[in-house]
Amino acid sequence: MDALPSNIEIYKKGEGVVGVSYADVSGGALWIELLHESLKRGLAPRSWTDYLYLSVGGTLSVGGVSGQTFKYGPQVSNVLQLDVVTGKGKLVTCTPTKSPELFFAVLGGLGQFGIITRARILLQDAPEKVKWVRAFYDDFDAFTRDQELLISMPELVDYVEGFVVLNEQFLHSSSTAFPTHLHFTPEFHSNGSSRAFYCIEFAVHDDGLKNASTEEVVEEIARRLSHLPSHLYRAEVSYYDFLNRVRMEEMSLRGVGLWEVPHPWLNMFVPKSGLKAFRDLLLESISPDEFAGPVLLYPLLRDKWDTNTSAVLPEAAEGAAEDERVLYIVGVLRSANPASCTAECLRDLLRLNRGIADAASAPGIGAKQYIPHHPSPSHWREHFGRRWERLAARKARFDPLGILAPGHGIFPRISSASSSSL
Ligand SMILES: Cc1cc2nc3c(=O)[nH]c(=O)nc-3n(C[C@H](O)[C@H](O)[C@H](O)COP(=O)(O)OP(=O)(O)OC[C@H]3O[C@@H](n4cnc5c(N)ncnc54)[C@H](O)[C@@H]3O)c2cc1C
Repeated sequence: MDALPSNIEIYKKGEGVVGVSYADVSGGALWIELLHESLKRGLAPRSWTDYLYLSVGGTLSVGGVSGQTFKYGPQVSNVLQLDVVTGKGKLVTCTPTKSPELFFAVLGGLGQFGIITRARILLQDAPEKVKWVRAFYDDFDAFTRDQELLISMPELVDYVEGFVVLNEQFLHSSSTAFPTHLHFTPEFHSNGSSRAFYCIEFAVHDDGLKNASTEEVVEEIARRLSHLPSHLYRAEVSYYDFLNRVRMEEMSLRGVGLWEVPHPWLNMFVPKSGLKAFRDLLLESISPDEFAGPVLLYPLLRDKWDTNTSAVLPEAAEGAAEDERVLYIVGVLRSANPASCTAECLRDLLRLNRGIADAASAPGIGAKQYIPHHPSPSHWREHFGRRWERLAARKARFDPLGILAPGHGIFPRISSASSSSL
């Protein structure tokens, strides 16, 4: 980074106004900037997104998920205080106990209730190094079982993600940042049909908090996994490089003109009970051979999300079993190269995503979109489900004229002449 902003203040435990380490940061600052500044003090935020060139206000307005979410919750669960300019033009400092309705409305609120101008982000001691591990599977059940095993060991494991390996091209491109050579050469076709493989990615921080070296911890974990024999790969990298790994992919894609291309993405939270049906729906709907981009799939824990925020998860079934505590995020992160995908092809892909999202939202699967896009107010109402009334009440209270982020089409713009509430 060349120019670092001066709008980030770092407080080590004992220095600030609350008894923990934290950063006060402007809403427009990027997470990479916060990482730079906090590492200078040996600290870092606990919860991340995969890509760090995103704004603090932007990811707090959607949720903010990555491989740390199972352990610390999403980024919206790691905020102590916000400064918000509401749709009424008021600057309000809010916390979970001071103006809590605004605080929780704004988190995951898609910009509907106010503009985050400043956020207080919880920090922790940063490790210097990380063991980064990838293990390959040919069996979906073994893959998800092992992912769930990993998230049941937060005292050992610091990060868990995973992805579906659909074709050779993806296997190659996903290895750009991973610094260990893979000798995995799967057969993607058997008996005339396509075959998918799976990869778990997990990490162990060298943070001095474990009773063994990171290598011993990885060994202990690996013994309990059911990956394909001899297809577990490990690397040791700096914490900074680990967190900033997608940047390397970005630079590689930029080099061949494939970063600034349309990305018809679909992100869904899928209940554990509907995961297999969702996987089948996905594999039937896309052409695995031609799909360009990652399909991420990893588990999260429902109780790490505060239900007061505006973020929407699938409803837990009535009397749900303990393991319904687990839900999955599936990111279908397609790139559409304009050289082969014209405007009509792009429209087709968006229609395809819509079809998958609609089918997955139906009761059999019961998924909800993350970073949602919906074509009509009635879809939005359905998306928010039993939380719709609360959302509408918050909108009426904090942005009665509907001036904030109208592009989502959640609420209509109200003309000031017809409003007497201001
Ligand atoms: C390459 C890439 C990788 C990504 N990876 C992840 C990931 O791993 N995990 C994840 O959770 N998400 C990921 N995302 C999605 C990302 O979290 C959202 O797109 C997020 O909104 C991006 O923030 P932004 O700064 O670009 O916001 P914008 O796209 O500018 O805004 C998005 C929404 O947030 C609102 N908003 C923006 N700033 C503010 C503010 N200061 N106050 C109030 N509302 C605001 C806008 O009104 C809008 O509704 C990724 C996105 C990209 C482009």
